[in-house]
Amino acid sequence: MKAATAEINTQALKNNIDIIKTYVPGSKIVAVVKANAYGHGLYQVASALYEKVDAFAVARLDEALNLREQGIKKPIILLEGFFNEEDLPFIARSEIYTAVHDMEQLEAIERAKVEKPLHCWLKIDIGMHRLGADPQDVLNMKERLEKCPNVLKPIGLISHLSVADTPTETDYNIAQINYFRETAKHFSGDLCLSNSAGILAWPDSHTPWVRPGIIMYGISPFEDKVGSDFGLKPVMTLKSSIIAIRKVKKGAKVGYGAAWTAPYDTTIGIVATGYGDGYPRVAPNGTPVLINGKYVPTAGHVCMDMMFVDLGLNSQDKVGDEAILWGKGLPVEKIAKLCGTIPYELVCRVMPRVRVELI
Ligand SMILES: *Cc1c(COP(=O)(O)O)cnc(C)c1O
Repeated sequence: MKAATAEINTQALKNNIDIIKTYVPGSKIVAVVKANAYGHGLYQVASALYEKVDAFAVARLDEALNLREQGIKKPIILLEGFFNEEDLPFIARSEIYTAVHDMEQLEAIERAKVEKPLHCWLKIDIGMHRLGADPQDVLNMKERLEKCPNVLKPIGLISHLSVADTPTETDYNIAQINYFRETAKHFSGDLCLSNSAGILAWPDSHTPWVRPGIIMYGISPFEDKVGSDFGLKPVMTLKSSIIAIRKVKKGAKVGYGAAWTAPYDTTIGIVATGYGDGYPRVAPNGTPVLINGKYVPTAGHVCMDMMFVDLGLNSQDKVGDEAILWGKGLPVEKIAKLCGTIPYELVCRVMPRVRVELI
């Protein structure tokens, strides 16, 4: 019997890249593999995609290092740049590309002693107000980077859309895209703007380099859609087994805090997955689990290692039967919505103890 297992479908991953390429033909693909490839396995994803993408993007130097150590030779971009100046010689030597989002990073690059010049992308703020140079500093920073012998020329330009997943924010999206395009006129280097939602919904955001994350994993960035609406296939199927089955009478109080009372005589299945595996404890009673081709509702609080499902009085399900928590046949987008969060968070939170099975 299998406990919580994340089945990773590498064919689906490749299918999703092919779909992405139909939206941005000719663009170079930077596969965003931060946060353990959104919980899908950093190296597994990077190696499965290797021939189909042009570069990888991560959020931490350790993630980039991990990829380099495992033989990933394509460009790897640090989306937030470096956090510690002392890492610059190593970043340069490892040919890791860095975003430069503020004056402190720029000055550290000017001061650095590096063996090879650094690949830099100047990151600008076009409306998110998270990271990125302010409009009044952009050209000055560009000039200083261009003058700096520690930096490879030409400099790239990179930014991030803040409301591309919100189709009603048309004006704000257009303003961000236009500002990026205006700024890009001063740059002869690589340009990179679109995230997943930009790729799918905002053709004007398309740049020679694009940065898909969530759609590579077959998941929709839009709240009211699922990946299959775009021909995407779920890459992760989180599944487990029923490890016990018991009959309960109407009125039986099930689980911690007696949070579910059987409204009728029924059969309860105990599934070997809990919040210790990354399944959200906030999942309400009635969240669907796919067992033997049927959607059955959860009952009571999710525990650390187990959860309850109401299989129904006449259930034929057996100990050892597979239970799908999300993925194939049960979009993670649906589970996320019921839990009041986004699917990004659910897949990212899959815990290290969950077995990864590549198919
Ligand atoms: C995470 C991230 C992405 C990918 O976003 P998706 O919505 O998953 O496509 C792209 N760019 C930056 C800067 C990011 O932080």
